[in-house]
Amino acid sequence: MNIEQQIQQLRKALSDHNYNYYVLDSPTISDFEFDIKLKELQDLEAKYPEFFDANSPTQRVGGEITKNFETMPHEHRMYSLDNSYSKEDLKDWETRIKKLIDGHIQYTCELKYDGASISLTYENGSLVRALTRGDGFQGDNVTANIKTIKSIPLKLKGDYPVKFDIRGEIVLPFEGFNKMNEERIEIGEEPYRNPRNTASGSLKLQDSAEVAKRPLDCLLYHLIGPNLGVQTQFESLEKARQWGFKVPNVSKLVDSLEDVFKFINYWDVHRHDLPYETDGVVIKVNNLQQQEELGYTAKSPRWAMAYKFKAEQVSTRLNSISYQVGRTGAITPVANLEPVELAGTTVKRASLHNADQIEKLDIRVGDEVFVEKGGEIIPKIIAVDLSRRRPESKPTIYITHCPECHTELVRQEGEAQHYCPNYNGCKPQIIGRIQHFISRKAMDIEGLGGETVALLVNEGLINNYSDLYELTKEQVIPLERMAEKSADNLIQGIAQSVDIPFERVLYALGIRYVGETVAKKLAKHYKNIEALKIASHEDLVNVDEIGVRIAESVQEFFMSEDNMKIIDRLKHFGVQFEISKEQLAGQTNKLKGKTIVISGVFETVSRDELKKLIEDNGGKVSSSISLKTSFIVAGENMGPSKKLKAEQLNISLINEYEFLQILK
Ligand code: AMP
Ligand code: ZN
Repeated sequence: MNIEQQIQQLRKALSDHNYNYYVLDSPTISDFEFDIKLKELQDLEAKYPEFFDANSPTQRVGGEITKNFETMPHEHRMYSLDNSYSKEDLKDWETRIKKLIDGHIQYTCELKYDGASISLTYENGSLVRALTRGDGFQGDNVTANIKTIKSIPLKLKGDYPVKFDIRGEIVLPFEGFNKMNEERIEIGEEPYRNPRNTASGSLKLQDSAEVAKRPLDCLLYHLIGPNLGVQTQFESLEKARQWGFKVPNVSKLVDSLEDVFKFINYWDVHRHDLPYETDGVVIKVNNLQQQEELGYTAKSPRWAMAYKFKAEQVSTRLNSISYQVGRTGAITPVANLEPVELAGTTVKRASLHNADQIEKLDIRVGDEVFVEKGGEIIPKIIAVDLSRRRPESKPTIYITHCPECHTELVRQEGEAQHYCPNYNGCKPQIIGRIQHFISRKAMDIEGLGGETVALLVNEGLINNYSDLYELTKEQVIPLERMAEKSADNLIQGIAQSVDIPFERVLYALGIRYVGETVAKKLAKHYKNIEALKIASHEDLVNVDEIGVRIAESVQEFFMSEDNMKIIDRLKHFGVQFEISKEQLAGQTNKLKGKTIVISGVFETVSRDELKKLIEDNGGKVSSSISLKTSFIVAGENMGPSKKLKAEQLNISLINEYEFLQILK
């Protein structure tokens, strides 16, 4: 077998495995074996660039940057769908189409996936282009981003037509969406509102490597082009599935509207069990010949109809609007409602998002409003019942000043949210920041909880986290629910926190976008706060994994005189602002570039100590053995599967003594 054949064979194997994993959801090899093959292919492709293929499985990691997405015409127009909201609507539709065509009508029932629509073009079995819907006539070329979505085949299988378009929906399944949000909350960013907008926003990211990280999926539903070799919609779904596309198999071929209604009734309930969001059913005339006879209106096909599920909805009175201030100063308006039952829970509050939203819907206190529970966690107000509006009602005037500290709010160009800029003087921001400071992953102050922090601030005993270190037992004893013992614990806990290492102190400061990992990176790179303080923008973005946004936020933090004063005080109290002497002394570059796996039980060192030793000496600790593993520090009782992997990959094992010897 020559090199080219070897490369082709690997590509084929990898795309088959991608298919098994992401489309069929039933992998036949382990992630580990997959990685080996991928690495093998990457190496070959690097060595023999003459065999480059834009649709090789190695291209899925992304990396291509698109500054401006090129607008391109759709070869076949992307139509909308007509909507129906009741069974009556559907009966009317059937009556209309029966006048236009002869013969028995079968219908394909599909779910209406709620995401961003996409049109993919394939030529000779290869993906050549992906366009967003745009205005239906032309869309944006997002091919580089689309290629990173693993369930979209880059190469097709079977008897596919020479050239065709296929349409589908890019969705973000709930699980991945929730995970993305957890990470955002962790670094102090606003969570994404719903999966659909996040999916469509993802398509327009400039860095395709970022898209590759998002757990997007693509569900296909429509083939278009000449000589497809199919007679019906249902057949075309089956064919597309055979060529390697992800086509949900919940679709059903039925013989009458009665059966369409059964499908609707079933999925109206069971859609909540699906891993992604749906907002209705799409009913299509099955026979393509009949479809052709029916044709299109100005906007949509006559042969299809969307039936929208009724989101669970109730109407209730809006009693008042309150405004919350978050730890970062972001203002969120909240609707206080007359309590009402909705989808099994009592709803008292609903999110109003921001000023634009209130204005757009003209929401006023005293209105009867419709509340709906969609994909979001908190219910939202979707409309006002204008017929019941009282004549004396007045338009809502959005607050101009912070409800907590009365500072004038600001709103950055292009941002929906108002912010309170009073960083060091606004109570919820102060409390939130101190609560973050003492939290477990930060200063981990024992004996002090979030509620006590609020009490301390409200009593005027502390105003920022540096004040904690001057608290006395006499000051805290009078606080509610504080006894002699707990006061002691609190003071002691604070005193002990001065030993918390620099990297966690850096995280504790609550600099926007500086989460745990970033703090570690910065601490390691700059070694002390002075060096970090004077770091230039250039210098910051050159640090591994530090981007423009983080760099700007870090610089802004150190520009504030208040922040500098607080840091000086913390220093004065003994809080760590440089990595410790031992850490510094023990730090070398001896293991630079090495990825090391720790496995088993050790006699003279703990796993944590080993881990720290590796990191201090410039190495990287990894939990699983792969081709990237440089060596394994192995103790007693190393797992048999790990042992086998190490053998297969020819990775050497060393014991703890040998390891310590290396570091000497
Ligand atoms: P609308 O945006 O309400 O006009 O609905 C039309 C859109 O529904 C289409 O452009 C598709 O993006 C989307 N859609 C979702 N699932 C399907 C499906 N199974 N068949 C056709 N269109 C669908
Ligand atoms: Zn404020």
